[in-house]
Amino acid sequence: MTLINENFIKIPATYLFSEIAKRVAQLQQQQPDARLIRMGIGDVSLPLPDASVDAMIKAAEEQRHSSSFRGYGPEQGYDFLRKAICENDYHARGIKMETDEVFVSDGSKSDTGNIGDIFSADNKVAITDPSYPVYVDTNAMAGRAGEPGETGAWTNIVYLPCNEANQFVPQLPTEAVDLIYLCYPNNPTGTTLTRDQLKKWVEYAQEHKSIILFDAAYEAFITEENVPHSIYEIEGAREVAIEFRSFSKTAGFTGTRCAYTIVPRNLMAFTRNGDAIALNRLWNRRHTTKFNGTSYVVQRAAEATYSPEGKQQVKALIAYYMENARLIREGLQRAGYTVYGGINAPYVWAKAPTGMTSWAYFDYLLNEKQLVTTPGAGFGASGEGFVRFSAFGSREATLEAMKRME
Ligand SMILES: *Cc1c(COP(=O)(O)O)cnc(C)c1O
Repeated sequence: MTLINENFIKIPATYLFSEIAKRVAQLQQQQPDARLIRMGIGDVSLPLPDASVDAMIKAAEEQRHSSSFRGYGPEQGYDFLRKAICENDYHARGIKMETDEVFVSDGSKSDTGNIGDIFSADNKVAITDPSYPVYVDTNAMAGRAGEPGETGAWTNIVYLPCNEANQFVPQLPTEAVDLIYLCYPNNPTGTTLTRDQLKKWVEYAQEHKSIILFDAAYEAFITEENVPHSIYEIEGAREVAIEFRSFSKTAGFTGTRCAYTIVPRNLMAFTRNGDAIALNRLWNRRHTTKFNGTSYVVQRAAEATYSPEGKQQVKALIAYYMENARLIREGLQRAGYTVYGGINAPYVWAKAPTGMTSWAYFDYLLNEKQLVTTPGAGFGASGEGFVRFSAFGSREATLEAMKRME
């Protein structure tokens, strides 16, 4: 008899997106003429930068000829891409980075989910609330989350509430934790940590020998000076943090798939006996054993985002979405709503009118304004009373949506 990993059946089914789809379908049945605007999506809408498409065409052509054909590449990524990442994303900001600290992959969802492989199931995990659901669910699969409680909160996870009371800046845990998930700029709240605020987390991790798993998927959307683009801008972070970056939101690679993870060489965690082990070595072992590399064609597309034309085109994509974010933020404010985010991230976190739950506000926006958003409660208990507006739609749809709100 084959036994299953029973952690999987402890995880409650995620009703969020199926429930949204159900309610949208209901509305479409009741009001067949409703012109729905979808502002719930976390997917981009603009096509790839030309520089990336051109690079892919060129790379595909290389794959046609035996003289230039490439089979398996290095699992960690080609040197041309790892070098471009080091130079453009780190050296250009005054951060030291070596190519063997960069692990290219097919996405940050996989990386933030897989990273747990190299850590003991006995580690105590802290996760901001609300959060990207991958952090909680993958820890549950690994048996690190304990049991799902009555309210949906896992017994063994330390939730770090991010709410209006703390202005979405999580407080340091009062108990010792080992692994800390931070995502800044944040999905879903669109808020950030300043350099000083992030520094407190680095100091906490140094003091407790914890590891920070820093998801910087929205780094490219930062507009304010005092918001760090990388956790390695903070002194000492190389000894306590792993950073995840993705081309998905930055350059429209959600369907093309390319990301990378930074594991500094001098980042250590411990055996039960207290021996320090380099996590770079462990992640290299994990990555080369379970992953066979991102496709050559796609790595060329990612490399092209760092060319002069590529940079210009990526900048234009980001500017387009951030103008949407501004329109949403200011439109909702004019309509009398309290909103957060939208300044350094393509998400606006809108507070429901007093006494309304996330789902009630969602229903109101759907039925009265024909706008599809994402209920905040779907991202964790502290998301209750909010909905997330995404700025990834078209300008036209964004303008129309705000006209309806005002
Ligand atoms: C979109 C997103 C990612 C990127 O995922 P990919 O697998 O690289 O497409 C990572 N983290 C967060 C929080 C995201 O919202």
